Amino acid sequence: MTDPAFLFLGNQDLSGILRGRSVPHARMSEAMAGGLPWVPANITIGALDTLPPDNPFGPMGEIRFAPDPEAMVRLGSHGDGPVFDLALCDHLTMDCAPWPWCPRLALKDAVAALTAQGLTMRAAFEHEFTVHGLDQPVHVAFSLSAGRVVAPLADRVLATLDAAGFTLEQFQAEYGASQFEISAVPADPLTAADRCVLTLETIRDTARGMGLRASFLPKPALDRVGNGVHVHFSLWRGGRNVTCEGDWLTADSAPFAAGLLDEAEGLIPLTVLSANSYARLRPHSWVGAFTGIGVRNRETMLRLVPRARAADGSNPGASIEYRVTDATANPYLVLAAIIRAGLGGIAAGKPAPPDVAQDPADLSEAERARLNLRPLPQSIGAALTPLAEDRARAWLGAPLAGAYFSCRRNDARHAAEMSFEDLAARLSLVY
Ligand code: GLU
Ligand code: MG
Repeated sequence: MTDPAFLFLGNQDLSGILRGRSVPHARMSEAMAGGLPWVPANITIGALDTLPPDNPFGPMGEIRFAPDPEAMVRLGSHGDGPVFDLALCDHLTMDCAPWPWCPRLALKDAVAALTAQGLTMRAAFEHEFTVHGLDQPVHVAFSLSAGRVVAPLADRVLATLDAAGFTLEQFQAEYGASQFEISAVPADPLTAADRCVLTLETIRDTARGMGLRASFLPKPALDRVGNGVHVHFSLWRGGRNVTCEGDWLTADSAPFAAGLLDEAEGLIPLTVLSANSYARLRPHSWVGAFTGIGVRNRETMLRLVPRARAADGSNPGASIEYRVTDATANPYLVLAAIIRAGLGGIAAGKPAPPDVAQDPADLSEAERARLNLRPLPQSIGAALTPLAEDRARAWLGAPLAGAYFSCRRNDARHAAEMSFEDLAARLSLVY
């Protein structure tokens, strides 16, 4: 690989889009040490590149990007184009204090609150996406042939991530047309979110360099399967995975999971970001369109995934899968919200939720009510409630929550002015 020409500093904004600016590589040491100035309002630019009318920043002010040398990747050249380094950043004030709107700092705060309870989390993002431009007459789900067709892309992505110091757990041809999936290896929450951003950008950028287009749009068409993101997380205490005992939740994970389920209406706008995303949350589509947790159940919001038990009875590979998010969401906010809602469940000493052993959509309303299985909002308008904004304020602080909800209301306004198809076509080029 030739020497990099530019260093790009930035991170995901409140619409899950990586934005930032580049310096010539000769200025790398200076930029890595001192950061770069940035414009506060930029964090609220939406997917259609418009600022929300009630955006809190206006034209004033300046903040700093503070890059983390642990969160970098070197993106290869596209033909004759230059090599780029990408470094992910915190957003700080000019005095290098935490900036209250920074998603990465919100996650660091949530992790500190978890640690204060004697718990740690390991998390791994699993992404589904569509690759446009592949030469395959038919996409056979989960087949070797589809896997081979995308293998040159996957191979380059793996080499890039390997050079950045991490790898992926697996990739596969998914069920949908030209749909693929990659899964990350579990890591601490901040590393998991950083790797999520680096992986998404590497896949998009590498595909572009090969004349392909990778799109993580959650619902490409109403009659096609969605591109989901599933977040696998496990809770650890004293070096032991305390997510599962036998095939069920533990004294640590039961109240945490109950917190997530009881706060579903607050979690959803933070983990289901775009107007397009809500079309994915349909029953019978292996997404989880109802609250609830079930052992190995792919139709509940949470899936408990017990793995092989160790000789001492522990379950070191067990995880809970949070199924109702997608790649339009900001991964720092997704994990921060999960941790905060879970901690709320622990603080309240919530009892274990019932194990849901069926597809909730196949149960009667009375049965769903008995198991407290609530349908998740089916549109961005239905999700943006005062209650949800209140929960976001409690979990992320009033400034970040306020700006985030301004962005979502702006999304909802745009969505109301466009057909599903027009919005999907546009967002497919962004996400
Ligand atoms: N494509 C589904 C989704 O939108 C998930 C299918 C699966 O379980 O892998 O989340
Ligand atoms: Mg999948």
